[in-house]
Amino acid sequence: MFERYQRQTLLPEVGIQGQETLKNSSVLLVGAGGLGSSAAFYLAAAGVGHIGLVDDDVVDQSNLNRQILHTPGTIGKSKVASARETLKRFNPDVTITPHPIKISSENQLEELITDYDLVLDCTDNYPTRYTINQACIHQQKPWIYGAVSEFEGQVMTLIPGTTPCYRCLYPSAPAASEGIAAVMGVAPGLIGTLQAAEALKYLLDTGKLLTGRLLFVDLMDIHFDIMTVTRNKECPACGHSIFSG
Ligand SMILES: [Zn+2]
Repeated sequence: MFERYQRQTLLPEVGIQGQETLKNSSVLLVGAGGLGSSAAFYLAAAGVGHIGLVDDDVVDQSNLNRQILHTPGTIGKSKVASARETLKRFNPDVTITPHPIKISSENQLEELITDYDLVLDCTDNYPTRYTINQACIHQQKPWIYGAVSEFEGQVMTLIPGTTPCYRCLYPSAPAASEGIAAVMGVAPGLIGTLQAAEALKYLLDTGKLLTGRLLFVDLMDIHFDIMTVTRNKECPACGHSIFSG
């Protein structure tokens, strides 16, 4: 029944039982752009049973250098509808739930994430990441942060109550840069893939996660670096509520 997944069920870390676990798992991707494209493709390929996608944007021609879920034929269409079409064609067994909404508050996101086991941050801005951080702390929901710029990227896995939170890492957002952010498509391709790898390890309860460790990737010089991140006991997001005592 799992012929499609034979090459991975051969792995002792997966097996038939792990494949069942993936089938019964749900992951919410906030953002159906560059990071969301590669992450969603590999989660669907691995047989994660339910993938939710949040994005209120429509497909634009300039997205296509990196957002490989979308095609010239879906330009002007909602990104989550376009993504659903592609993913259903790729793996019809996976349930794709589109959420064509703009995340405007913690409460709204909290309501959404209760239905999912795990959240992937595939956004491109600090305010949304702070909202994801807060909502995940309130709901005790693990999430995987990913970010890209030009030829670089970062990944970290956050488990509320156990690991540092996003505000422990970045207490405040740097000033927003002007204009359109430049990015080479392979950067979100790789970072989204790493987020999917972290997600699969988390769901299968195997391997060593990027918890309390921030991975930096520089594709120009081929440089991978891991920085240890510690909890900030005074953190306004998680310092008192979660880590007190
Ligand atoms: Zn914190």
